[in-house]
Amino acid sequence: MSLKSCDSPDISNLSFAVKGSFLNPLSPYKSQYIEKGVMIVEDGRISSLGPNADPPLPDELEIMDFGNRIIMPGFIDTHIHIPQVNQRARFGHSLLDWLERNIYRAEAEFSDPEKAETLSSAFFKEMIRNGTTSCMAFSSVSGPATDIAFQKARETGVRAIIGKVMMDRSDAGSAPETLSQSIEQSVALAQKWNMAENGRLRYAFTPRFAPTCSRELMLAAGSAARELGCMIQSHLSENEEEVRVVLQLFPECRSYTEVYAKYGCLDKNTVMAHCIHMSDRELEIFKDSGASVSHCPSSNLYLKSGSMSLKRMQQHNIPMGLGSDVGAGPSFSICDVMKSMNFCQPFPISPQQSLYLATLGGAEILGIGEITGNFLPGKWADFIVMDLDRLQPGFTVDSIEDLIAFLIYLGHGGMVDQVFVEGRKIKG
Ligand SMILES: [Zn+2]
Repeated sequence: MSLKSCDSPDISNLSFAVKGSFLNPLSPYKSQYIEKGVMIVEDGRISSLGPNADPPLPDELEIMDFGNRIIMPGFIDTHIHIPQVNQRARFGHSLLDWLERNIYRAEAEFSDPEKAETLSSAFFKEMIRNGTTSCMAFSSVSGPATDIAFQKARETGVRAIIGKVMMDRSDAGSAPETLSQSIEQSVALAQKWNMAENGRLRYAFTPRFAPTCSRELMLAAGSAARELGCMIQSHLSENEEEVRVVLQLFPECRSYTEVYAKYGCLDKNTVMAHCIHMSDRELEIFKDSGASVSHCPSSNLYLKSGSMSLKRMQQHNIPMGLGSDVGAGPSFSICDVMKSMNFCQPFPISPQQSLYLATLGGAEILGIGEITGNFLPGKWADFIVMDLDRLQPGFTVDSIEDLIAFLIYLGHGGMVDQVFVEGRKIKG
């Protein structure tokens, strides 16, 4: 048996065994903890996970032994913006002011291929450093820059669903693109990248939000997404001022949610970020559509947009995941997002539920729950190694709740030791 130390795990193939302490989310209510476990990976996919006991592993199997470090699924970030990597912690009085002051300019600069390359590299590096293995991300309005973002995702080895921002309407002057440009470029990108690299890269049609989209654009984006088997991502009901603008622009609709429903952008493949200021009627429309919510509490705290009610979402059985919403969210760390969620809600959230939303729940709303999000046999080996000793030397696990609570309230990117996607090491 060839034993590799955890500091030199450059294995020569994608079949190996991993030893350590495993944290494995199973549902919103249940997670598994195996203190001395072993996971077998074959051709990049998990074949088994169990206690490290007899029978002995086959002689030819390479082993990575992570000792007492925690091995868990990589985090899933269900809402984030690639061109905004360097726009974190910029001042704005509110969402619309922050967009005008900082974001539209930064996204226009992302059209420069050199900038697109530099910023995309910085984005994926920071995402991986924080232990996020999968994301659903907005690019900018530029088709070529979005193509560069996909190339960087391919090079870095992350799992990513990316979309070119669509916006054919602007109150601040000329719109950044026409309807036909927007659709043509989005369809070309979807045809090139959706399900590329074994399905590791996927495309999402990405109308920015209703205030910057014509009715025709939303209708065309929705039908193209369905025709090409792609996701749809956008923003919904983040800020009260934004809601008022939408109701003025779309007087034929009684609510913001109705705008997306009427114009074809709300279905089971849709992920809407925020969803804060919604009536019961809107939640019913949303539930009936099959769409999902990306809950972005650190961003909502930062821009003082309000607080989404987790309880109301649960009462309506609406599927959810967590999003950092960088750059409105100041941190890539999904630990920070879990912490913000727990601070925002007026009741205790079980640690297992937080972990589920940060991993398997996120994977499910992105349509990748069958292939990643936990350690079920057959899924890709997307996992991270967390070194809790770096923060608290000699940390011992007294209960699974305390272990997850430690990650929620004290976890950060500096504790992420190594990162693997499809059995390939992409950090460490
Ligand atoms: Zn956003």
